[in-house]
Amino acid sequence: MPRYDFRCRACGSTFELSRPMAQSDEPAACPAGHDDTVRLLSTIAVTGAAGAPRPSGGGGGCCGGGCCG
Ligand SMILES: [Zn+2]
Repeated sequence: MPRYDFRCRACGSTFELSRPMAQSDEPAACPAGHDDTVRLLSTIAVTGAAGAPRPSGGGGGCCGGGCCG
């Protein structure tokens, strides 16, 4: 069962819930009982999407080293 991160706009806390995908868009109350919450992007999907150094490829090998041009 996937986990979803939520953020409470009432108290600012973040929490996570495990729930079926079919219920991913249903409202969730924070542990303090507020229901003014928003669902954050899944931590599963964003892993390594940006900011991670790429080990190879991209065509920067030669021109990046000043050996051409
Ligand atoms: Zn709250």
